[in-house]
Amino acid sequence: MKNSPEDSPMNEIGFEIVECCPLCGSAGDLKYDQLEDRVYSASGIWQVSKCRSPECRLLWLSKRPKPSEISKAYQSYYTHEEGGPGQLGERVVIKKLYHNFRNAYMAHALGYARKRSFFLASFFKAAAHLHPCGPDSMRLEAMCLKAPDQPARLLEVGCGNGYLLRRMQSLGWEVEGLDFDPQCLRHVHSAGIPCKLGDLREQHYPDQSFDALYMGNVIEHVYDPAGFLEECARILKPGGRLVVITPNAESLGHHFYQADWRGLEPPRHLQIFNLQNLTALCRKSNLAVVKMRTSIRGAWYIQGMSSTLRATRLAGEPQVTRPVKLLSIAGMARQLFSRIWVRIAPRSGEELIVVAVKK
Ligand SMILES: [Zn+2]
Repeated sequence: MKNSPEDSPMNEIGFEIVECCPLCGSAGDLKYDQLEDRVYSASGIWQVSKCRSPECRLLWLSKRPKPSEISKAYQSYYTHEEGGPGQLGERVVIKKLYHNFRNAYMAHALGYARKRSFFLASFFKAAAHLHPCGPDSMRLEAMCLKAPDQPARLLEVGCGNGYLLRRMQSLGWEVEGLDFDPQCLRHVHSAGIPCKLGDLREQHYPDQSFDALYMGNVIEHVYDPAGFLEECARILKPGGRLVVITPNAESLGHHFYQADWRGLEPPRHLQIFNLQNLTALCRKSNLAVVKMRTSIRGAWYIQGMSSTLRATRLAGEPQVTRPVKLLSIAGMARQLFSRIWVRIAPRSGEELIVVAVKK
């Protein structure tokens, strides 16, 4: 590993070069050069390489921020913002209808209702397919976790402002958060939810502390993802569930937009997984993979942003400022096409969803 001479001053981010694949140690080929952060404006020019091993094919940021400098890449990052993701924009009627339907889906399809009905569960599972983003948009709002049979502890790693934790608490989980951003900590604490600051491995949670761990768009940000998953396995109870959501290196959007693909997000995404290497990593960490697939839930956003990144780059604009919307002709067209395409190529969804159980 080669380093820049010393930690850099002000907003300049000191870097290191990672020559071999951080997962399997194989050599790689330079895939993208001269990458810039055109979404959150962190400084620097970055590189991405691709692992040559056919069993791995990891994409990794081969010129990346040094760990001591990485906080500079997060100074205007989205977790500082309040509120959850606004899939359905500001249309109050649509939002209310959606929230009512989502709550009914969670209650009946995911088992959170007091009285469980096979008929209602089947109805809501089928009806969820009418959502343009598919049933994943609702399943993931309950972290893909069914109702527990007894009191259960849940940790969200990278909890942001805590909007998912608040929902999971209302569904009966005993919740706790972890984030590296002090502003997020204040939001979560203000909702009366315990939350710690920093990296998972610095917390020294006792063995077998949690019944479930959720990491939405986190694992692509961490140094040493193998050590990170081993720590997840250590703090899960036997039979406990780990849910990992992360961008898919083999998605339709990446295939089409290449270096403009939103999922690359240099310099914060240190590695981009595919289904094969992420499930292999879980298995190495004493976790049994029970679900593994790709999702088109956020295709409208990821592909829309990728299209904007491409258009603004070609126009010579330094940063993306154009919003993307699901409820637009382009947004709905991207969702519809992705839904059809993922039927033909099941590994082409924009995100990976992996659910693993501690052995
Ligand atoms: Zn590799």
